[in-house]
Amino acid sequence: MSVIDSRVLVTGGAGFLGSHLCDRLVGAGHDVLCVDNFFTGTRANVQGLLGHPRFELMRHDVTFPLYVEVDKIYNLACPASPVHYQFDPVQTTKTSVHGAINMLGLAKRVRARILQASTSEVYGDPEIHPQVEGYWGRVNPIGIRSCYDEGKRCAETLFFDYWRQHKLQIKVMRIFNTYGPRMHPNDGRVVSNFIVQALRGEPITIYGDGSQTRSFCYVDDLIEGMIRLMESREDLTGPVNIGNPGEFTMLQLAETVLRLVGGSSKLVFQPLPSDDPKQRQPDISLASKELDWQPKVALEDGLKETINYFRWRLAQ
Ligand code: NAD
Ligand code: UDP
Ligand code: UDP
Repeated sequence: MSVIDSRVLVTGGAGFLGSHLCDRLVGAGHDVLCVDNFFTGTRANVQGLLGHPRFELMRHDVTFPLYVEVDKIYNLACPASPVHYQFDPVQTTKTSVHGAINMLGLAKRVRARILQASTSEVYGDPEIHPQVEGYWGRVNPIGIRSCYDEGKRCAETLFFDYWRQHKLQIKVMRIFNTYGPRMHPNDGRVVSNFIVQALRGEPITIYGDGSQTRSFCYVDDLIEGMIRLMESREDLTGPVNIGNPGEFTMLQLAETVLRLVGGSSKLVFQPLPSDDPKQRQPDISLASKELDWQPKVALEDGLKETINYFRWRLAQ
């Protein structure tokens, strides 16, 4: 199968990560079918691709069957920020589980290779640090984050069962916190919150004491890792961690954003949401060895790009 000219389906393609992926795939010569129900994604995210002869946008909810002819499927459809995935938690689980079943059924019928956008959330609030792919995780099955975490865990199970049972070519990617242009200004994620608050001169909201850590990957690095995994040798199923190992406390992140934006925002401390993981950092040895992949963009450089984007967005 040739890399160029293949027909690629991207579910959730009008979202933050999906729209960057569509840009890259169209640019590389693929025919791209972008499927999205526009829950958190927008036509504006793929504005630059509308009308392109190799790009097609379809409104569709992946919890319903989809009959199309494609060679590769990137399954990204699922709200990713706590505010959005907790808005309708039953729909979130359905999207992960029914969405995975439908996309795997489609992949089975057309014998397409399929990649799942899984998440570091499958590790829950981890007891080992940094997280390696062999770690089974510590997830609360009945908490307010469970619709997302357990939905994604079940999707991974389905991927591996279709691989064992139906010999599908699967790729499971565990994505760690990613940021960049086209994040939603109001989706509640920490990078977008801090930047928007700093730009508006509003208080920066630190949940808990701000000592919890996250590791932030710039979107361009993430998409490079995703495409490398899709194009990797057939027997590499994953799961593979993709993320930036640079680990920061939320206080450090707030200070960095404030320094880069300038302005006079104060820090305010608010309660820590339940089940909020205390620390998170990817071990990326596997991606480094198997995909020859490493993130290249330093946090400050990526934040500057993201700040420029939000400056422009807020001025619209
Ligand atoms: P996003 O919310 O911007 O994108 C998700 C897209 O899926 C949106 O366009 C949304 O409208 C669409 N969608 C949601 N439910 C759907 C449904 N039932 N049918 C069709 N489309 C649907 O989020 P994102 O950050 O771009 O995340 C993309 C994927 O990557 C998600 O699967 C997410 O779980 C995963 N991920 C993201 C991160 C991150 O830090 N951004 C981290 C780990 C995993
Ligand atoms: N499916 C789909 N598109 C296809 C083929 C299947 O959306 O091209 C869906 C269909 O709804 C089905 C699901 O994928 O229920 C799982 O398909 P599979 O063949 O694994 O299971 P079965 O059809 O036997 O339930
Ligand atoms: N957070 C924060 N202030 C905010 C938004 C989030 O301190 O305005 C914290 C949140 O409690 C968590 C971390 O930042 O500890 C990352 O949150 P996000 O929702 O971005 O990602 P996730 O928790 O899903 O990794």
